[in-house]
Amino acid sequence: VNRLETSINLFNLKAFYAGRISSCGIHIEGGRIARIAKETNLPPADRRIDCGGHLVIPGLIDCHVHLRDLGFSYKEDFYTGTAAAAAGGFTSVLDMPNTSPPTDSPQRLAEKMALAQRKAIVNVGFHVAPPSDPADLSRMRLNGAFSCKFYLLKPMGNVEVRHPDVLRDYLRECRRAKMPATIHAEDGLVIERQLAASSSAITLKRFLQAHTPEAEYRSAKAVLETAGVGTKVHFCHITSCKALELIGRARRKMRISCEVTPHHLLLNDRELERIGPVALTVPPVRPEMERQRLLVACQRGSIDVLATDHAPHSLSEKLGEDYSKIAAGIAGLETALPLVLTLVKKGRLRLKPVIEMLTSKPAQVFGIRNKGVLRPGADADITVVDTRRRFKIRASEFKSKAKHSPFDGWSCIGRPIMTFVAGRLVMDHGEMMANPGEGAILRPK
Ligand SMILES: [Zn+2]
Repeated sequence: VNRLETSINLFNLKAFYAGRISSCGIHIEGGRIARIAKETNLPPADRRIDCGGHLVIPGLIDCHVHLRDLGFSYKEDFYTGTAAAAAGGFTSVLDMPNTSPPTDSPQRLAEKMALAQRKAIVNVGFHVAPPSDPADLSRMRLNGAFSCKFYLLKPMGNVEVRHPDVLRDYLRECRRAKMPATIHAEDGLVIERQLAASSSAITLKRFLQAHTPEAEYRSAKAVLETAGVGTKVHFCHITSCKALELIGRARRKMRISCEVTPHHLLLNDRELERIGPVALTVPPVRPEMERQRLLVACQRGSIDVLATDHAPHSLSEKLGEDYSKIAAGIAGLETALPLVLTLVKKGRLRLKPVIEMLTSKPAQVFGIRNKGVLRPGADADITVVDTRRRFKIRASEFKSKAKHSPFDGWSCIGRPIMTFVAGRLVMDHGEMMANPGEGAILRPK
């Protein structure tokens, strides 16, 4: 039997559908949602799945993950990274290009797509790094790249995008290729100079004195001044209100979007000091005042997207005394939804905007077709969430190869219990149900 031909009825559920949460059933056929209606009005199906009265939302979309693989497969690979996604309720992820080798040519993009096609269990799309030949951006766009990532902290590959002239050329090429520019905003040239001035090991204090909110602001400002009108710019993991205000003003004349991560909404610099390098990420978590302002910005709708910046490393790479040498990054796919649902329970965020920031908004920003909403005709990428489940985060049980987290031991309320990709149940109460290669490669609209 062709599994895609199987029809399924999901029943006994509350769905986030047409902007409301209502009791209904969902009929899935051929991997798509065929009907959403009162249970008694659904057509018969080959299989019926009781959703236990739980909340059913569109499969989560994470536009910022590092699935690693290739030379970094000891940190994560396309199977373990997408298993972590499925466990966390994510059905589509966009992978970052800072791999070994980087995704900086049409050939390398094609190789990564082929490898992911064999291993992934959720849908995977790709961002690319600036290619040596700027004209290759158009080729990579045609072949399915979602954006070009500009990592302004350190060059990725051999293109020095931190220099304004180089940045200008590549941003212009993005515009020609009708491709969004995705920006890690930190003024890398200044940060590098400040850290190099120190003759001894970089302490956390010195690290934070270099990686300031001001460095984020300066970098974002330089991008906005360089990108012409018509360039679509997406800012990754914004951490400070000054950068947010700048982005808010620029929205009036440019196509701009920005994202925030769960760790910047939940941790402050004191917790980084207490937890140590496992909580180290760039840009770093900020003083409490900035964290509070980010939560308010989410409530006001000034932030488009919630993204995890899932950035797994081996434990040994996360240890050490010199903060400029410790690998920065947090594995976030398996903790994101429980953490933000807990913020919702505490009244710090509202449920509907949070769901949209994890589903329809990233689909809109990056042009991911037929996903991010529950509606007839959309792909049956669906996540079932037990919003009342209390549990403790156990990093040792992660599907990710990175079995450490600054949130290890935290108590959460709310957990994804079933994940469907194209109508196939890929995660059932923490158990992986899919085989490697069942995920699809995503290409932009
Ligand atoms: Zn990242």
